[in-house]
Amino acid sequence: MTAAQDMIGLKQELVEGAAQVASIGLVPLTQGNLSLRDPRSGHVLMTPHDFPYDQLTTDDVLVLDLAGEVIDGEREPSHESQVHLAVYERRADAAAIVHAEPIYTNLFGVLHKAIAPLHVGTLIDVRGEVPVMPFAPSGSRQFGYDMLEVMGDRNAVVWANHGMLAIGDSLAKAIHCTVMVEISAQLYHMALQHGEPHQIPERYHGMLVG
Ligand SMILES: [Zn+2]
Repeated sequence: MTAAQDMIGLKQELVEGAAQVASIGLVPLTQGNLSLRDPRSGHVLMTPHDFPYDQLTTDDVLVLDLAGEVIDGEREPSHESQVHLAVYERRADAAAIVHAEPIYTNLFGVLHKAIAPLHVGTLIDVRGEVPVMPFAPSGSRQFGYDMLEVMGDRNAVVWANHGMLAIGDSLAKAIHCTVMVEISAQLYHMALQHGEPHQIPERYHGMLVG
């Protein structure tokens, strides 16, 4: 396959991933953003700023270099592009990123309370509890660097009062991780109505596979 054919395929993958997260309610209206790393060029495919997911086509996808310069595309890139780029710069394992706004995850973001990985799938995807990045405006590279400090080797982080971000070695994995964080947030919230939830014992953590 040529680089151009690869690029069309990646744009299609991003559009389909965006439609999926929108259809399951993870990004109400035009909130959130998604990106993918092109393994061939190292460039990053990014969703546009404030654009309806149900109208998104491959022509609307932006291609950015790691500095944030637009290589391809007419739309305005997401205002959180620099956060995504900070992740691609510092995390070689990141092939895709989802920034979403699921409601139960946001509940813990409002409380500034880390989400316990109560479901085994969350623990596998995230690799531990989901930490909370203290509130700060999210448009800068520095926000991304500070967020990565909070994340450590985790694959997800809650942004206080502002959604969450998940990393995957594919877009499907980043979406899966987002869903699993929201599932544990729902479970955590509901379990706390009844008592103190049981955590997955530490001795099993290294043995778990998806
Ligand atoms: Zn946002």
